[in-house]
Parts: sequence; C-alpha cells; structure tokens
Amino acid sequence: MSSFINMTPNKFRQAVRQEQLEARTRTTVKQLKEHVLVLEDELERTNLLVRTLFELISTYHGVTEKQFKDMMELIDLKDGVIDGKVRSTNILNAECQLCHRKVSRRFKHCVYCGGELSVPQDPFAMRRTNK
Ligand SMILES: [Zn+2]
Repeated sequence: MSSFINMTPNKFRQAVRQEQLEARTRTTVKQLKEHVLVLEDELERTNLLVRTLFELISTYHGVTEKQFKDMMELIDLKDGVIDGKVRSTNILNAECQLCHRKVSRRFKHCVYCGGELSVPQDPFAMRRTNK
C-alpha cells in the first residue's frame, strides 16, 4: 500500500484493479463456502428422508432393494439421461460468455470470472417433451 505513492498512474490503476479483483474473489469464495454448507445440510436432510422412506416401504410393503433401484432408474430416465440425477446437469448449467466454464444457473454471474452467463433456457423444456 505505501508503495502506491511511488507508482506511475498506469501502475497505480493496475494495482487498484488487482486489489478489486482480489476483493471480488474473496467475496465469491466466502459466498461459495456458505453455499456448500447449505447444500451439505440439505443433502443430509434428503439422505434421512430417503432412508426413512425406504425403511417404511420395505418394512410395511415388502419392496425390495432391487425394486427400489429399478424405480430410481426409471425416474432418472425421465429427463432423457441416466446420470443418477432427477434433472440432467446440462439443463441446470449456464455457460460463461467470457471464460466459457459451466456455472450453475443459480448464480447471476460466473463464479470464476464474474462474466455474464448465457441466456437461460427453459429448465422444464426437456421434461415437457418427454411427457
Ligand atoms: Zn467466467
């Protein structure tokens, strides 16, 4: 900071931009860490829910693990992709206009560089065509 006094205007602007970029990066990292904590919490609750549901249907209705897995695969297939997810990640991701990385549509800007994200597509478009 004290070295700013001896800088040329160009070097000074460059240093200010660097500081701004680092501050933005620190903010993004902090937000992402908070987001991960929320997701971990949601995942644990979902895990508990799924285990409870499976215990109930296997205990009271005799559903086997194979029947459960077959039904999971059937539901997985409804978005057209067997990927172990309800919705394909391709539908959930947007592409950064600057660095071209895939970023979740939950974010307004790219989490890597702050760039604009591609125009959102209808996330339910593929589901509708499958019905
Ligand atoms: Zn980017």
